[in-house]
Amino acid sequence: MYDYDLFVIGAGSGGVRAARMAAGFGARVAIAEDRYMGGTCVNVGCIPKKLYSYAAHYHYDFEDSRRFGWSGLEPAFNWATLRDNKKQEISRLNGIYDKILDKAGVQLIKGRAVISGPHGVVVEGKSHSAAHILVATGGWPFVPAIRGHELAVTSNEIFDLASFPERILIVGGGYIAVEFAGIFAGLGSHTTLSYRGDTPLKGFDADIRQAFFSEMQKHVKTLMATNIESITKGADGSLRVGFEEGHQEVFDCVLYATGRKPNTAGLGLENTKVSFNANGSIKVGDGFQTAEPSIYALGDVIGRVALTPVALAEGMLLARRLFAAGAGTMNYDNIPTAVFSHPNIGTVGLSEEQARSRFPDGIRIFKSDFRHLRHTLSGRDERTFIKLIVNKSDDRVVGIHMVGADAGEIIQGFAVAMNCGLTKAQLDTTIGIHPTVAEELVTLREESSQG
Ligand code: FAD
Repeated sequence: MYDYDLFVIGAGSGGVRAARMAAGFGARVAIAEDRYMGGTCVNVGCIPKKLYSYAAHYHYDFEDSRRFGWSGLEPAFNWATLRDNKKQEISRLNGIYDKILDKAGVQLIKGRAVISGPHGVVVEGKSHSAAHILVATGGWPFVPAIRGHELAVTSNEIFDLASFPERILIVGGGYIAVEFAGIFAGLGSHTTLSYRGDTPLKGFDADIRQAFFSEMQKHVKTLMATNIESITKGADGSLRVGFEEGHQEVFDCVLYATGRKPNTAGLGLENTKVSFNANGSIKVGDGFQTAEPSIYALGDVIGRVALTPVALAEGMLLARRLFAAGAGTMNYDNIPTAVFSHPNIGTVGLSEEQARSRFPDGIRIFKSDFRHLRHTLSGRDERTFIKLIVNKSDDRVVGIHMVGADAGEIIQGFAVAMNCGLTKAQLDTTIGIHPTVAEELVTLREESSQG
């Protein structure tokens, strides 16, 4: 009756995973993509960001190596080398996505898809029909309409700048803003972060925000509680930024990292009964079904948790529900996450604030603030901070947070334990690996506070 069992719009993290899994269950699947295979994560998100973060960390590694006996290092950074090698790697990954879909038997249709009705999609003038349509179109950077905003760049453009910015202003206080601040400071830019709040990373545990903020200020000039009024271009190409608070500063590049909006414009959703949440994200139920029963949505476009592994999990769940009689729902608790800032942040579970309101019988807090063994010799003034939150009534660990090198790598394993119901007593009986930073989490004995 229809050309396909499932038509997926968007070959990003969620769309590709749903398409592959559905095809694996025997469904006839097509996927449309109008920009780049692999979506945001592969092309302008997680992957290039992490590669640039590695590049930035070499700066500190070179410096730190001196007191370990290395000399004669006068490294110079070349932006074009990093940018062009990154491009090559991303092209390789784009090709892999093409192949994966082809091998899975998914029909790849290159072009912009517009929904024409509950079962209809048009791509480049050609109509297709499907029993189910999945909207997995992701998000898009949001830039406020200040005067001269068109002179600013977003995360979509920043990786491919024609030349390296000696002076960069990053606007925003979320994880993407602080990651780019770490990257550009590490690569050698004079980096300034402007944020309208008083401390970056709203929503993270307050101690983590504070510990990270004091580390970041060692590398980045921070202008908190500031708002940009205008950007104007000088004759030499530099950008003059006027702040509402009255002063002006000149930069070579202004990067806006002020949030992302669901990518739904021009998608033809007005031809359906699909409804929206207040922030413009698509409203779905537990099974990712929209108000139009044949249309589903997942990933960043539904505005729940904008992370690649979450979009992947949602995609798998939907494919199972539609084509393998799966009935499970997505569990959004204990999603571990990392901020690849300098230094890294790793976190899983509740912040202290959330835990206090969730557990009326009280919580126990354990903290450790110490100098990484490496820096006893390198001489670097960098602290590592670890925080553990325990529910007093049943001894369950409900939050683990860390600021320090490799925090993401460390927290991933502890997240598995938390999902298995980890208690503080079990942490206490676990033998540490010495000497590591992670062992600190199994040797926290002194309670910092109770509540
Ligand atoms: P996307 O991956 O955005 O894919 C949507 C796709 O749909 C795109 O390819 C788009 O071109 C296509 N599309 C849109 N409209 C149409 C249309 N009408 N027709 C055809 N195709 C269309 N997450 C992490 O987990 N870890 C990280 O370290 C991390 N870092 C990030 C860094 C940055 C700078 C950014 C911006 C994001 C980062 N993320 C990270 C978030 C992650 O990239 C997203 O959560 C993830 O990509 C969402 O997947 P998705 O499938 O919902 O959408």
